[in-house]
Amino acid sequence: METKYVFVTGGVASSLGKGIIAASLAKLLQARGFRVTIQKFDPYINIDPGTLNPYEHGECYVTEDGAETDLDLGHYERFLGIHTSKANNVTTGKIYNTVITKEREGAYLGRTVQIVPHITDEIKRRMLLLGQTGEYDIVITEVGGTVGDMESQPFVESIRQLQWELPEDSICTIHLTLVPYLAAAGELKTKPTQHSVQMLQQSGVHPDIIVCRSEKELNADLRMKMARFCNVKAGNVIESIDAKSIYQVPLNMKEEGLDKKVLSSLGINWSPEPDLSALKAFLDRLSHPETSIDIALVGKYVELQDAYKSILESFVHAGAANKCKVNVHYIHSEHLDAANVEEKLGKMRGILVAPGFGERGLEGKVEAIKYARTHAVPFFGICLGMQMAVVEFARNVLNLKGAASTEVNPDTPYPVISMMEDQKKTTLKGGTMRLGAYDCKLEEGSLAYRIYDKETIRERHRHRYEFNEEYLSKMEAAGLKASGRNPQTGLVEVIELPEHPFFIATQFHPEYKSTPESPAPLFVSFVEAALKCQK
Ligand code: GLN
Repeated sequence: METKYVFVTGGVASSLGKGIIAASLAKLLQARGFRVTIQKFDPYINIDPGTLNPYEHGECYVTEDGAETDLDLGHYERFLGIHTSKANNVTTGKIYNTVITKEREGAYLGRTVQIVPHITDEIKRRMLLLGQTGEYDIVITEVGGTVGDMESQPFVESIRQLQWELPEDSICTIHLTLVPYLAAAGELKTKPTQHSVQMLQQSGVHPDIIVCRSEKELNADLRMKMARFCNVKAGNVIESIDAKSIYQVPLNMKEEGLDKKVLSSLGINWSPEPDLSALKAFLDRLSHPETSIDIALVGKYVELQDAYKSILESFVHAGAANKCKVNVHYIHSEHLDAANVEEKLGKMRGILVAPGFGERGLEGKVEAIKYARTHAVPFFGICLGMQMAVVEFARNVLNLKGAASTEVNPDTPYPVISMMEDQKKTTLKGGTMRLGAYDCKLEEGSLAYRIYDKETIRERHRHRYEFNEEYLSKMEAAGLKASGRNPQTGLVEVIELPEHPFFIATQFHPEYKSTPESPAPLFVSFVEAALKCQK
């Protein structure tokens, strides 16, 4: 079948969950047997979100092939169980970079380079790129931002052009809006949706389907009203009511017939009913926990939920696998010290120390790790969390006063974490870390080996600093074990304390590969250990 394209735009407000709607639609189409992928086009000028603070757009998600991407790609992978790639996240920065490089090479000699057609041509080329691989029946493109933003205009204009350039029945556009409930009036309000669709139509894009986020049900009259004012078929106004879990949204969308409506607007009138049994089984476990557990997430971006998105989702998956509700308590590492650590962590049955960069909140992380180590509380450290576990062990077990990572203290007398050799030559900041998936060989008999139940695993990375091998023999003599290494370089990727009930830390990020149907083994075992500790 000829590849079909679905575009998802948003209006009225940001944070309506376009990514979840796109991923839910993709899930339904995939469950019907279509080969589907999703890509995200972000209007900002950064080449990728790798250089952004998580406070800006939330977590930076890392793909198997080492792209630093928008966190929505995490949702795509979790919903679909597929790997996305560099090609699945495009930014205005990437588009301009390509066009300007071509201009310097002389590709447009003699001509003025303009937004239309040069920028829009490059946007369209990338919008169609994944479809041209022949690997997908349907490519869904989510356009970041809200319609009407100055920055989104070239993307909307590109969709307009594609509406005419692509063969008939091969493009469908969905517009996601908010239908707010005004408590004082006791009413749902459709006007913002009408305005948003009008704005889209002024740009020449005519949505086939409108999905309305709302807290309350949309009755038939309201749907009819929106259909009439927005020029869409009455049946194509879809309600997306707030759901208890994001993983419920595909089922809600199926209930509303979103997948059928998209297929019909793409000229596909028959396909098998979607098989959602695995998702339903997961939701059943999720909504019937037999117990609950308190776990501390120690980090410095705790004010923003999205900053640790993949970790939070991994706990949802691991909780369901253990039939347990995981209550994640954010502990601000900047406000954690020896005097208050007992008060803040005393009730926790597991402590996770999060990834991160820079000096802020670092000493609080070390304090949390010391507490976990000395109080036999299950501990799991990720990336910076592992690096700080090494620092803590060096300082408090080996008595190496002032041991540190050279990231924050280049003059430390004991650089137990130091910059990777190939990083020393790099001066550029964007996309230059050790990124993406690498093999890791686990030592037989270790905790890591028991958790994964295999010798070679493949997990994703995002870091510049590493365990300094010079200190390994001393540390091993004192009871720390390096249980996972990169088979090519020998880089230490996993450390653990065999004498402790559960103390493990990884240089890689297992959270990026956790899905509801295939939860990350380290999270599942960490929650299991925390449950045992509770008993
Ligand atoms: N800042 C550390 C490094 O660059 C850890 C990075 C992380 O936690 N992702 O190595």
